[in-house]
Amino acid sequence: MLTTAEEILSAKKRIIEVSRELHEVGLLVRTWGNISQRVDENSFLITPSGIKYEDLTPDMIVKVNISDLSYEGDVTPSSEKAVHAIAYKIRKDCEFIVHTHQVYASCAGTLGMKKIPTYFDDEDIVIPVAPYGLPGTDKLAANVGMALKKYPDSNAVIMANHGTLCLGRSAKEAIIEAERLEVACNNFLVDVCKTNMNHGVEVGFNSHLDDKGQIVYDIPDTPERVKNIHREIYKKRPDVKYIIHNKSEAVMMVSRRANHMRPLLDDFAQLIGASVKVPSNEDGKDGQNFHNIKKNVNAVFALNDGAYCVGKTEDDAMAVAIVLDKGCIAHTAVMRHGEGHYLSIWDCYKMNRHYRKSYSKLADIKE
Ligand SMILES: [Zn+2]
Repeated sequence: MLTTAEEILSAKKRIIEVSRELHEVGLLVRTWGNISQRVDENSFLITPSGIKYEDLTPDMIVKVNISDLSYEGDVTPSSEKAVHAIAYKIRKDCEFIVHTHQVYASCAGTLGMKKIPTYFDDEDIVIPVAPYGLPGTDKLAANVGMALKKYPDSNAVIMANHGTLCLGRSAKEAIIEAERLEVACNNFLVDVCKTNMNHGVEVGFNSHLDDKGQIVYDIPDTPERVKNIHREIYKKRPDVKYIIHNKSEAVMMVSRRANHMRPLLDDFAQLIGASVKVPSNEDGKDGQNFHNIKKNVNAVFALNDGAYCVGKTEDDAMAVAIVLDKGCIAHTAVMRHGEGHYLSIWDCYKMNRHYRKSYSKLADIKE
């Protein structure tokens, strides 16, 4: 229990430290995910909505009421506060919670399984998967609550098609749980789904538009074939200023084999689009067709050559590249596993619209 103002302040600082630690080990990326600490029986402190970890200060950490989700101050708490609240309500021993979109656990949560039987070191473990609910909804919180009740001994829950929730009696315990979960889920993907993949972004040919609207290529001798794609993208998408060519292992795999990607993860639907086409050889143009450049779809696949991830800023394009890589690992795992749970197209459109709207609002504030 935190009672004095000093205790609250040091807890807020600790939350920021933890977010940086998780950031460093790659379990948290950008603004995706959130962290909380219990204050007492009735309230907890949580990270705010939509602020990057490097910009966090203690006064941005918000105190939220567990029973009615009301909060103190002007900073908006994370939109997943209801998920944290229900976890504190059900698990009285829980003092610290980490919610992440970590790669392997999130991908394991797209297979349509109710639990993931796997192992960590020599220990067999079972990780519950809470059924899908749209982000920020009561349904999602209720589903996570159900999973926690059903598995009272589990300190980790996967939120289907979204991410994870890791609980601890301390910050350290919650972090260790998130790390263990990632290894255990990767074990499952490797053994059961035959999907043994590194994650990250492998950069190929990038470009951006300069002040005069001229295309500047990062690599001066970019092949004409590639320049052609960049030119087409800028022509058809006046909103795009940056292109990152992602040739990661998973993106390359999908660019060779798939012909259509439906979102398996919320962040894919939000940042990339509700449906992404991968060109094929069928129309005789050797994949050099550009009908896959579409408004509100931020990844353009090239046949057997990865994908071009686009954005208004370099940061946006990189976010797309990171989320695409994870989406391609999920896609591969589902294909090899033979089953998976895709998001409904309506949910995807809804999330995509909502994300674009709230993002442009956020951008307006910054500008
Ligand atoms: Zn989330």
